[in-house]
Amino acid sequence: MIHAGAEPDPSTGAIMVPVYQTSTYVQEAPGKNKGYEYARSQNPTRKALEDAFAIIENGKFGLAFSSGVAATDAVIKLLAPGDEVICGNDMYGGTYRLFTKVFERFGLKFHYVEMTDLANVEKYINDKTKLIWIETPTNPLMNICDIASVTVMVKGKNILVCVDNTFASPYLQNPLNLGADIVMHSVTKYLGGHSDVIQGALMMNDPELREKLYFIQKSCGAVPGPMDCFLVLRGIKTLGVRMRQHCENGKIIARWLKDHKGVGKVYWPGFEDHPGHLVAKKQMKDFGGMISFVLENDSVEEARRVLSSTHLFSLAESLGGVESLINHPASMTHASIPREERIKNGLSDSLIRLSVGIEDAVDLIHDLEQAIG
Ligand SMILES: *Cc1c(COP(=O)(O)O)cnc(C)c1O
Repeated sequence: MIHAGAEPDPSTGAIMVPVYQTSTYVQEAPGKNKGYEYARSQNPTRKALEDAFAIIENGKFGLAFSSGVAATDAVIKLLAPGDEVICGNDMYGGTYRLFTKVFERFGLKFHYVEMTDLANVEKYINDKTKLIWIETPTNPLMNICDIASVTVMVKGKNILVCVDNTFASPYLQNPLNLGADIVMHSVTKYLGGHSDVIQGALMMNDPELREKLYFIQKSCGAVPGPMDCFLVLRGIKTLGVRMRQHCENGKIIARWLKDHKGVGKVYWPGFEDHPGHLVAKKQMKDFGGMISFVLENDSVEEARRVLSSTHLFSLAESLGGVESLINHPASMTHASIPREERIKNGLSDSLIRLSVGIEDAVDLIHDLEQAIG
């Protein structure tokens, strides 16, 4: 991760990839150029980052997009009207909104199923199924889907498997190794890691699939700027050390919450009694720093009070930065999912989500202690 995509600059030897802040490239003669024509199609800073994306997911190719949802949008544009997609009933609210409010209008059909049980996935597979969209662990309920088993189930069926690997990060989980065709990341989160950039990524092995997705990237134009690519190249260098600290702090805080009398259910896949624990243990290196919980009395009012009384945990959407965040999914990240859908899928109005940062764990616990009481 430290060396991924980082060749010294050929013209100066600069150890860091320069920010090629340019829209176009001067050509020697019509059609005679150095492989760079126009910056929507190619940019050297982006190229270095895309090479890094491929390396960190053990893939052959990487593509960078202007946001996570733009990367998701590109994957869905591989499909045609009439095609069907099977996806989770508990996924990032923005993905759900993109599927229901944008793409259903174009004649695509999405089946939202409980993906922890693969029989539910199998039930919806038919001739029209072209894509299985997996998010694991899910946001915010931390459900786990067995990636390898899904890829085995669709083998030889001409169905793509794409995994939103945002919550795990490439440090903890590598879906291409488990047989997935495409990995998607909201780079905004752990890959960027410093809450200073919006970006998305796709990684894949198949050259034909790479060509199709590159065509969509340049034709639809949702590319990130070179400065954002530079920031992410820098972020990736510390992904390993950051993730180790996120995981260690996550472990300490999840256990502390579980033992706290004022706290009810705690959602974290590292607990042995978490229904997805064994699968998580099999496909992830560790359990990460994302934790959701409800208070013992399940009171929405109390939850609102806790959400407004932390000092180190900032009340904000997003996750994966070095600083800890606290979030209320029902009114913030997942407000775009209708309430009855949320409740049906187990996302209660009192649920609190933590993105545990890399601060000192004792300081974080003191903060939660004074907030929860
Ligand atoms: C944030 C997020 C996205 C969307 O990414 P953006 O960079 O915000 O567009 C998709 N999936 C998951 C799991 C996320 O957390």
